[in-house]
Amino acid sequence: MIVTPGLVDMHTHVYRNATFWGIHADPVAARTGVTTWLDVGSAGSYNFQGFREWIAKPSMARLYALLNISSIGLTARTWELANLNYCDVDLCTKMIEANADLILGVKVRIDRLTTGGSGIEPLRRAREVADRVQRPMMVHIGGGPPSLDEVLVHMRPGDILTHCFTGHNMRIVDDAGRISDAVKQAWGAGIVMDIGHGAGSFSFETAQSMIGAGYLPDVISSDIHQLSIHGPLFELPTCMSKFLALGVSLVDVIRAATVRPAQVMGMANHIGALRVGAPADVAMFEMLEGDFSFYDVHMNRRNGRQFLRNTLTIVNGREMARQPDGQAAPWIDLSEDQRNLIKWGHTPAAFGACL
Ligand SMILES: [Zn+2]
Repeated sequence: MIVTPGLVDMHTHVYRNATFWGIHADPVAARTGVTTWLDVGSAGSYNFQGFREWIAKPSMARLYALLNISSIGLTARTWELANLNYCDVDLCTKMIEANADLILGVKVRIDRLTTGGSGIEPLRRAREVADRVQRPMMVHIGGGPPSLDEVLVHMRPGDILTHCFTGHNMRIVDDAGRISDAVKQAWGAGIVMDIGHGAGSFSFETAQSMIGAGYLPDVISSDIHQLSIHGPLFELPTCMSKFLALGVSLVDVIRAATVRPAQVMGMANHIGALRVGAPADVAMFEMLEGDFSFYDVHMNRRNGRQFLRNTLTIVNGREMARQPDGQAAPWIDLSEDQRNLIKWGHTPAAFGACL
């Protein structure tokens, strides 16, 4: 068995029953070893109190949040920034300051759909909030406009670029697979590169270009939500196993899902390490050996020989009991690709069962 600190998933959506994306964290925590979950932007100023009362308080796994610059958060699938009346800098600042025990920073999703016609203005407002509260800003990228360069100029060291291995047109490599100078400069200056695999944001092609050039992501996170939980993401250990298949070492993979996210969240003394005096958040894994097929969001496949299967999850000294996942939200239908993954036996459940 491999014993690790409880995993820290720095990009999740766990505001269930109140947002398009939210899943129930505890059942997934119990079967994956993820003991700390950062919910990034599911809640905005208008619905954060619900997150605190109904989600964070009763949860056994540790939950923290980034507050969405949009006061409606991720209630709907997208468009949360299209109406600038929802991007209230004063209100967002006030909420973060009043809830500093749970809210670690500000989140803004910048792509063509989320922003509608509002362009880069929501990002400028999130920047202002981050400066006022002196906490990090996480920026999501995907299909522009705007361009990646327009985004990077608003980011500072300690901020997080999530979906950093996206295959869409804001990606960090050019068509020839070369990393741009602006990205090199930003990364070198201390902007954190976070995977956030999700349902649309992880490309093996981008990952191989980056890893081939010697660039490992700072943080491997899942972006687990109502869509991605059904594959090809599934959950964090599957995402980590994809990096093993790409040739990244086990130590580097585990570091990117424990110590490193804990540092980025400013909690390195508390979580992400096995240390005398720290809470007993522990995960145990079996390394399965076999032939495993892994897919990115474009259904490109890579084969791997190793799969990390969680066998035990302990939070604060207590073992988490296995329990069934909550029901999928009424608006979720499995895609043809997701049904195929089940049919072909290319799911974590099938990987675990067949050995
Ligand atoms: Zn996300």
